[in-house]
Amino acid sequence: APKENPQVVIDAHGLPYQNAKLPVKKRVADLLSRMSPAEKAGQMTQAERNALKSQGDIATYDLGSLLSGGGSVPTPNTPEAWAKMTDAYQLRAQATRFQIPLIYGVDAVHGHNNVIGSTIMPHNIGIGAGRDPKLAGKTGAVTASEVRATGIPWDFAPCVCVTRDERWGRSYEAYGEDPALVEAMETVITGMQGSPSGKDLDRNDKVLASAKHFVGDGGTEFGSSTTGSYTIDQGVTKVTREELEAVHLSPFAESVKRGVGTVMPSYSSLDVLGDDAGPVKMHAHAEMINGVLKDRMGFEGFVISDWQAIDQIPGDYASDVRTSVNAGLDMIMVPTAYQDFTKTLQEEVTAGRISEARIDDAVARILTQKFRLGLFEKPYADTSNLDQVGSAEHRAVAREAAAKSQVLLKNDGAVLPLKASQKVYVAGSNADDLGNQAGGWTVSWQGASGATTTGTTILKGIEKNTSSATFSKDASAPTEGYDAGVVVVGEKPYAEGIGDVGNGHDLELTDADKAAVDTVCAAMKCAVLIVSGRPQLIGDRLGDIDALVASWLPGTEGDGVADVLYGKRAFTGQLPVTWPKSESQLPVNVGDATYDPQFPYGWGLTTLRKAPSGGEAALAGLAVAAQLAERAGLGKTAAGKEIVDRARLLVQQRTGGKLTAAVSKPFAEADHLLLTGDLTGAVAKLRTAYRAA
Ligand code: BGC
Repeated sequence: APKENPQVVIDAHGLPYQNAKLPVKKRVADLLSRMSPAEKAGQMTQAERNALKSQGDIATYDLGSLLSGGGSVPTPNTPEAWAKMTDAYQLRAQATRFQIPLIYGVDAVHGHNNVIGSTIMPHNIGIGAGRDPKLAGKTGAVTASEVRATGIPWDFAPCVCVTRDERWGRSYEAYGEDPALVEAMETVITGMQGSPSGKDLDRNDKVLASAKHFVGDGGTEFGSSTTGSYTIDQGVTKVTREELEAVHLSPFAESVKRGVGTVMPSYSSLDVLGDDAGPVKMHAHAEMINGVLKDRMGFEGFVISDWQAIDQIPGDYASDVRTSVNAGLDMIMVPTAYQDFTKTLQEEVTAGRISEARIDDAVARILTQKFRLGLFEKPYADTSNLDQVGSAEHRAVAREAAAKSQVLLKNDGAVLPLKASQKVYVAGSNADDLGNQAGGWTVSWQGASGATTTGTTILKGIEKNTSSATFSKDASAPTEGYDAGVVVVGEKPYAEGIGDVGNGHDLELTDADKAAVDTVCAAMKCAVLIVSGRPQLIGDRLGDIDALVASWLPGTEGDGVADVLYGKRAFTGQLPVTWPKSESQLPVNVGDATYDPQFPYGWGLTTLRKAPSGGEAALAGLAVAAQLAERAGLGKTAAGKEIVDRARLLVQQRTGGKLTAAVSKPFAEADHLLLTGDLTGAVAKLRTAYRAA
């Protein structure tokens, strides 16, 4: 086994590719020219670590990569054990002829989430609600630092999907329904990787990112889930060419600009309306992968398949391999069939059905990233950063992200912020459950309820602010004398598929949650927090609730939620998705011809400041300010946003909680325009909303 931090200097043969002073291009060309067909096929193979028949197979099959699928964790599940585990695999790779290091990958989709004790960020939907690109970048940097500390240089994140139907079970992995919002949050990529040039990748706190799932994963049609074994997240995306470009492809163009190292295709199929092709599996989509991603967008990284996804391409295994590799896939997450895959791939090349040039291109792309990551020089974990995993400094970032993700949907009678002197009654299924507030992809693939890792529940956060909190999970008999109730309800963890299985597809609260809300809100002034991966239907109950908060899946730092509840930080979050009135409204998105949701996209009250007074006059002033600011190039800056925020406050003040379609539509559209830097357009829309209110 490797010794503590056993960085080896590989200079055994003195070959050019081993010379770190040579440019990466030269090193790649040199190494590639020496490799056999079997070695090349091995580089293109990614196996699941548990699927290895023996660790020796890493060298026997010249494997290029291993992954931990969700929940594939070492025992004990500690940062140290992760580092030891990945070192042991790397040591095996050092036994190959050219000592080509493995590139190990994990799904660290909201922090280094497989590892107990790591810092768990809010899921992406909460990051989108926070609308703070700098902070999103910081969360990416924290995640990268924790992942790399354990010897892992590659993260299958972020999901740059645009979610168009919240019945999609992966809705919480999306930053929102508006491509402009998703693109604004892609600072997370540069947070993880550093400079778009790739020059920071060899640092011990950076990892390679993966933009996923290319393309249209968030646009699958509800109902297509009944086709074969495909579930809703693997269905068909039916879109016009224009919608495909503007909504789903646009975030990938942004990922490429930010230098993303890898892209993962989607399980779903794409059906471009007006084309004759019919639905084509994305893993077989040459026009999109070779044509759009690589040729048109100029993506220079490598394409990694999704888990066993090539098996879903119609035809036998040889045809799956041929079709996917010829469509532009560079590495296949097999994840168990590594023996079959390397063999079949070589046979296809020998038969001339896959060209050698295609293989060389794929391998060169993979090697390029390995060289950039510095893996040839330092294949093992640099354990000097291990104490960063779950550090106080990292948790402070997650706490800020959790606070900023909270969206105040309603606040009648100013129930929030709470005061320390108030007697509060805390209730509900998600008030004191760390696993539920972290959601799926936490320690295990599906996540789980309970104290699955280290952190602070929302209840514990509240208790740090007041000595007079009483907790009852099922809201039993709230007796007299409370100043306020806080009811925390919502979903239980899930990943992929159709979402909270207990609840079916629907976005209804459970009966127990409804009862808790009804009991507490009948007995006292109440604030209801919904901890969930997507909007939940609140319906007429809204009238009985004094304050309503969309908490999303805030992660391990419940303190961040308590910070906004107690006014230590202002509520500033805005809806990253439209909040529907009913199931029958779905799908509902900003830009729809008819738009009459419960709360529009971009909605979110603030406890930050009072709206300017003067109504129309103030709006006229803001319109002029917007024009001037835009001319001065302040469109996408905080100063520019400030102007639109003030206009938004005027509208919110005037609605008095009554949101009609005439208000909601321009209100939501204003938010989209703001993200694109069109301040003038945004304020004009808000004037329309104001007049309609
Ligand atoms: C998911 C991917 C993930 C992969 C590896 C798949 O089921 O769709 O998002 O990266 O598993 O764990």
